[in-house]
Amino acid sequence: MSAILLIEDDATIAMGVEYSLKQDGFQISLAYRLEEARDLLKRDSFDLVLLDLGLPDGSGYELCKEIRAAGDTPIIVLSARDEEASIVLSLDLGADDYLTKPFRLRELISRMKAVMRRRGPVEASDHTLICGDVTVIAQQAKVYKNGSEVLLTALEYRLLLTLFTNQGRVLTRAQILAHIWDVDEDFVNDNTLTVYIKRLREKLEDDPQNPELIKTVRGLGYKAGD
Ligand code: CA
Repeated sequence: MSAILLIEDDATIAMGVEYSLKQDGFQISLAYRLEEARDLLKRDSFDLVLLDLGLPDGSGYELCKEIRAAGDTPIIVLSARDEEASIVLSLDLGADDYLTKPFRLRELISRMKAVMRRRGPVEASDHTLICGDVTVIAQQAKVYKNGSEVLLTALEYRLLLTLFTNQGRVLTRAQILAHIWDVDEDFVNDNTLTVYIKRLREKLEDDPQNPELIKTVRGLGYKAGD
């Protein structure tokens, strides 16, 4: 049974979420404030944290950073509507996903399951990543579309790999840049990223103007797959 920590000061939301997660077989601990959440995190270990950003004794960002500094526990941020900047910041601080309020409980549960699956044992034995009609054989650094090999530059390949290993997850531009920067000394800036995304789409999308594989999430970043 997965242990979930829900940090939410709105009692109506908290109780609704708690009730339906219990129905779904999750074990829930509830905190209304950051301090309570910190105490619970010290005492127990959790499989996933649901984190509201606006809390009475501070911002969820701080806790997001602390949880990420301490380990890999998946975090889904629950944020008020139309707060793109705060969503970007929480993703940059290491949150795995976000939901804007009001959200449907079914949606929450399916996101939670997806995040926990992604955070699970990731090292697939054959390192093959598939998204739509594109397949990446990571061991050989080869990319195929509909069975035909597509030639990518080293940087295009790394960008694609970053997106594909995080399938279904929105990556902010800063996260993508940090990832590419990590493995190479080449200078990659924000404009370069836009150009590389465009090139990848030209090589891999059926219709680069209406990308299905690498989607732009307006104001947030990019996402591969659904
Ligand atoms: Ca709140």
